[in-house]
Amino acid sequence: MDNNPLMPTAIRLRKSERLEITWPDQSTSVISLRVLRKFCPCAGCQGERDLLGRQLLPVVRTSYDGPITALGAELVGNYALRVLWSDQHFTGIYSFEYLRQLAAQHPQTTDQT
Ligand SMILES: [Zn+2]
Repeated sequence: MDNNPLMPTAIRLRKSERLEITWPDQSTSVISLRVLRKFCPCAGCQGERDLLGRQLLPVVRTSYDGPITALGAELVGNYALRVLWSDQHFTGIYSFEYLRQLAAQHPQTTDQT
């Protein structure tokens, strides 16, 4: 596979707060873990679509009711990040493109003054 132009230059995981990604263009995306967990792209969380494109209810529900934290994260090839969650959910694979979109759609304001 060719080099991914979106390959982050740095990824920082603050395990009970947020994910920070620095992109090759030096911009930084910050995504709160709550948003990240909610928008887990795996079929179990987002529900599968039937042939008519209707959204089916997700079949996997988290029963973990404490604060969601990330246990860790690992690179998947050169295109995605897999996040390991404290509710034992390990199937979410977030492509860098998806992470960038998520950050744009859910801007963090904590560092703004
Ligand atoms: Zn999921």
